[in-house]
Amino acid sequence: MPRVADVVIRNALIADGSGGPLTDGDVAIGEGRFLTAGAGSAPAGPSTLELDARGELVCSPGFIDVHTHDDAALIRHPGLEFKVAQGCTGLVIGNCGFSGFPATGIDDIESVAGGDWPDLDGYRRVVSASGFAANAMALVGHNTLRSVTIGREDPRPASGADLTIMRDHVRRAMDQGACGLSTGLIYQPGKWAPAEEIIELASAAADGGGLYATHMRNEGDKLLESVAEAIRIGAESGCPVHISHHKAGGRENWGKVTDSLAAVDRANTAGSDITLDFYPYTASSGPMAEYTSPETVTQEWADHNQFALTAPGGRRTISIGFGMSEDDLVTNVRHPLMMIGSDGIPDLDGLPHPRLYGTFPRVFAEYVRKRQEISVAEAVRRMTSLPADRFGLSGRGRIAPGARADVAVFDPASFRDAATFAAPKQEPEGMVWVIVNGQLAYDRGRHTGALAGRLLSFRS
Ligand SMILES: [Zn+2]
Repeated sequence: MPRVADVVIRNALIADGSGGPLTDGDVAIGEGRFLTAGAGSAPAGPSTLELDARGELVCSPGFIDVHTHDDAALIRHPGLEFKVAQGCTGLVIGNCGFSGFPATGIDDIESVAGGDWPDLDGYRRVVSASGFAANAMALVGHNTLRSVTIGREDPRPASGADLTIMRDHVRRAMDQGACGLSTGLIYQPGKWAPAEEIIELASAAADGGGLYATHMRNEGDKLLESVAEAIRIGAESGCPVHISHHKAGGRENWGKVTDSLAAVDRANTAGSDITLDFYPYTASSGPMAEYTSPETVTQEWADHNQFALTAPGGRRTISIGFGMSEDDLVTNVRHPLMMIGSDGIPDLDGLPHPRLYGTFPRVFAEYVRKRQEISVAEAVRRMTSLPADRFGLSGRGRIAPGARADVAVFDPASFRDAATFAAPKQEPEGMVWVIVNGQLAYDRGRHTGALAGRLLSFRS
């Protein structure tokens, strides 16, 4: 007796996440999992929600945004509309060395004011009690650990005792389901840590099977040196490495991404295990104070920066810098180990970088349709099975019987970003239905209010 489905998507072009050719058929979902996928196989019952893809819409696994700063957003913006409308059903949080746990009491973008939890379990209890709309997987952040252990303002090297404390935090995070350690070596206080300190901590992540995700020390003049440091940290800690928002900033550095990708390829051939992500924009964005100093503020800098938030309520000003090359984006998207990470900063009071709302549709609009660099199936693979396997979202990222039913259904002819620098808070066009853990979260432009997301545990 076939199980009755909760949802059936009929007449879809199925992109199953593997990167293989699209197939025609139906996809059936029951009790939060895929029941069947393929031609004419879907069971139905009186209460089944029937969605008709008319032979035109692609049905894929939900997308995974591997580079988010949504740690606080799970509490502040639990509907996560800016992600769900793009088809994102999975978010990796805790990037660039900043995680929502252990709570620091600092009111910055990644942490939560007033939070007092000591670890991932404490954070999980709080976010799970209120609920949120997409699944999340946590990295533990080195800047956060250094802030609670040594202080945010103290440039001294970590002592043996400091290292023990930070290593214990990493171990505990791994025990509680984190997928690894992140760094932001351009930021305070992470920039004061030598490679040896990171190797110590990445070793603890490696012991738990996790990975090391890094916003490298330099993404401009010293990009290649920074990639070499990341490769070294991976080799000496035994930890797989993930390079965040891979790019070359500054006109004089354009083209260097070819060399840094070649370095990654050589290292992988020699036994390293390195993956990457990027966002499809030539402008970067970050806390202004972290990127500016009397030496960096030149006329050229001023010409290429816009200030999106005037620090309401004393919060940080976000600057947006137009410093990257379109050719480098193409180089990035061609690399088979390149995932997609929005790096969106979910501060909805100001004018965020449009990548917060536009990253995933923009990959389809620019690199699938306009430039034809990758196929629909390959774009889907980079957004689904590749990140699910890498960041340990087990049983996700593929449409297959028994897998968890996170789904995006979109029109491959029209799926496009609408967010611009002038009007960044615009949801994309062409996303039709989004399903999270078997529940409909987005229905033709309308958010259903379902808070079906879970804070996942690494590889379980
Ligand atoms: Zn970063």
